[in-house]
Amino acid sequence: MNLHEYQSKFRFAEFGIPILKGKTASTPQEAYEAARELGCPVVVKAQVLVGGRGKAGGVKVARTPEQAEDHANAILGMKIKGLTVRKVLIDPAANIAQEIYLGITNDRAAGRPVIMASSEGGIEIEQVARENPDAIAREHIDPFLGLLDYQARNLASGINLPHEHWRVFSRIAANLYRCYLASDAVLAEINPLVITGENQLIALDGKMIIDDNALFRQPQLAEMRDTDAEPKEETLARAAGISYVKLNGQIGCMVNGAGLAMTTMDMTKLYGGDEIGPANFLDIGGGAQASKVAAALRIILDDANVKSVLFNIFGGITRCDEVARGILEALNEVPSSLPMVIRLVGTNSEEGRAIIDNANIPNLSSAATLTEAAKKAVEAARKALAADKGAQ
Ligand code: GDP
Ligand code: MN
Repeated sequence: MNLHEYQSKFRFAEFGIPILKGKTASTPQEAYEAARELGCPVVVKAQVLVGGRGKAGGVKVARTPEQAEDHANAILGMKIKGLTVRKVLIDPAANIAQEIYLGITNDRAAGRPVIMASSEGGIEIEQVARENPDAIAREHIDPFLGLLDYQARNLASGINLPHEHWRVFSRIAANLYRCYLASDAVLAEINPLVITGENQLIALDGKMIIDDNALFRQPQLAEMRDTDAEPKEETLARAAGISYVKLNGQIGCMVNGAGLAMTTMDMTKLYGGDEIGPANFLDIGGGAQASKVAAALRIILDDANVKSVLFNIFGGITRCDEVARGILEALNEVPSSLPMVIRLVGTNSEEGRAIIDNANIPNLSSAATLTEAAKKAVEAARKALAADKGAQ
């Protein structure tokens, strides 16, 4: 689960990391009030669960409360990487002398957390890693020992931090690690950590990702989930108990089992080449009921990129007749004329196929093997794409 900037920074502050304590606003009027209370200049910052807000015009400095109101008016409702801004953070403006990056994440290969610092703050760390990898200093953290003082000093020296800031920097690094651990985070990032004109270190931007599997023991963090701010289909999928990841292809895949779902994606890619591929990863899980299939189909059909749908169901605990009924039920609720290829094998597959065939729906076709199903779904998507191009 992603936290908003303001949630991350307020959490950082609880662990002793210096921030500029701002206020959130959901209307231009609230932004005006906040700016007046805080005192100008302020920065009006879009609160969306993606990075790169600055570049997208979602971070603006205001010299007066009226200007803060204007900026909020422009930023609220703005779309950044497909997500609508519903809240802004009004922060006292900082006088920036230098921007630094400081972040902690899990290094799966090393099997332990890694803390990273870079003198190239304010830029996404992935970009720095690509273009200027030497600018990143790293220390792996032994979970039994914690972050040791010399490691924090190694980071400070690795990014050529002026010596006068080393003590405060080390304290911030230690507190960030405490916050990371106590929050069951998989990422805790300050970008930028700034040195101000007054020679102070302040976390200007914050990002935290909390391990979903730990939310049961993090009720305070779980409560921070902002379902208004996350992609709608993710909220729907979670509520229905479906694993879903949106991708950029055209074939909506509905599969039971994560391994089978990945194989299905691979097969569409194999026959789809550069042009056609999976629109999503979707696992409805074992023992899927008709209602769950309907929920999954609704999520798939909501994606405007989807040109064909591929069902690949292996009936073990899941019964194919249940799935077949689910497909028909879903099509009743969300009628769609998209071509759909259905492959059902395993428990009650015959009954399942009979249900589909007897329904006599012209855009549904069945396939005996995954190869056949993938080829059919790719062909259908290719045709639809060609027709779209022809229509333009
Ligand atoms: P992001 O683009 O989503 O990472 O948003 P950030 O909060 O990191 O802001 C982007 C950039 O805006 C920062 O790297 C700064 O250069 C600038 N910025 C943010 N807050 C302030 C501020 O208070 N004063 C000044 N001068 N610049 C700021
Ligand atoms: Mn940032």
